[in-house]
Amino acid sequence: MAFLTHFPVSPIHHQSSSLFTRFFLSSKPKTILIYATLSPSHFSSTSTIIPSSSLATLEEISLPEETPLQIAQEKLFIPPDTEISSEKPPRILRGSNIVLSKYARDAQINSAEFVKSSVETEACPSDGWPEFALVGRSNVGKSSLLNSIVRRKKLALTSKKPGKTQCINHFRINDSWYLVDLPGYGYASAPHELKQDWNKFTKDYFLNRSTLVSVFLLIDASIPAKKIDLEYASWLGQNQVPMTLVFTKCDKRKKKKNGGKHPEENVQDFQELISKYFDSVPPWIMTSSLTNQGRDEILLHMAQLRNYWLNH
Ligand code: GDP
Repeated sequence: MAFLTHFPVSPIHHQSSSLFTRFFLSSKPKTILIYATLSPSHFSSTSTIIPSSSLATLEEISLPEETPLQIAQEKLFIPPDTEISSEKPPRILRGSNIVLSKYARDAQINSAEFVKSSVETEACPSDGWPEFALVGRSNVGKSSLLNSIVRRKKLALTSKKPGKTQCINHFRINDSWYLVDLPGYGYASAPHELKQDWNKFTKDYFLNRSTLVSVFLLIDASIPAKKIDLEYASWLGQNQVPMTLVFTKCDKRKKKKNGGKHPEENVQDFQELISKYFDSVPPWIMTSSLTNQGRDEILLHMAQLRNYWLNH
């Protein structure tokens, strides 16, 4: 495949700026200032209309007056084959550190259906389509996010049915790729043996599933980092399993005066705590299933990872 050196490339990039964070290069050459907007009202327009043909015609969203989050260039996730420079500044997905590449196309969802529950990696679908696995602590908002991504109120309930909560649940999207719901971890009441089994089972999937493009590790951004989440992220990093951090519940804003941190601060803290386990910065994205914040951005990110994977 010919490598294109200009950016952006596809019609989506030319027409739509609503999904992108506005940025500018500051006087410090390697710092990019990024406005991360979290208020539900600013995301309502992205949650209403997605034409089935394209994501390109979403309405422009006006940005509120907020202190910009600063993301240094070296903390951006820059997809392969993507050049950035001050002449060719990056387009960064809103509420994330993810730079958009020429591979971000075909991001819309036209169909989603439950396919099967598997109890081991070998029993998973064998058609070779690329897949993304969603995993996180129980109650992190995994089912809600899955339903929000596919825009179906109850699709993920399938994985909550008795007997399926400890399975690898495959959902086929657009007859060409999979979303995979993995068992939630961290049940306080789960017996020790079950935790052990679960560890073995999902770790085997992460290490041996050849069509796994990226794990999407869900982290609750409304609370400070939990030990079990840090352990999980560091295990994925140490084992070089491709991972995207998906911060959930970003609509929940704790009052500073009560000692609570804002989701942005929890997001920053989490990354600092895991940074030593990663050679390069993992992509991260802020979401809310309540407001659909991050939904379209997740789909664009999945699309670019998937298209790159299919081409290599
Ligand atoms: P799961 O156990 O990880 O599948 O979590 P669920 O999707 O069942 O959600 C757990 C709880 O968190 C439920 O009470 C949801 O209503 C709530 N929840 C999930 N996502 C969000 C979110 O984005 N914002 C808020 N405020 N609550 C959420």
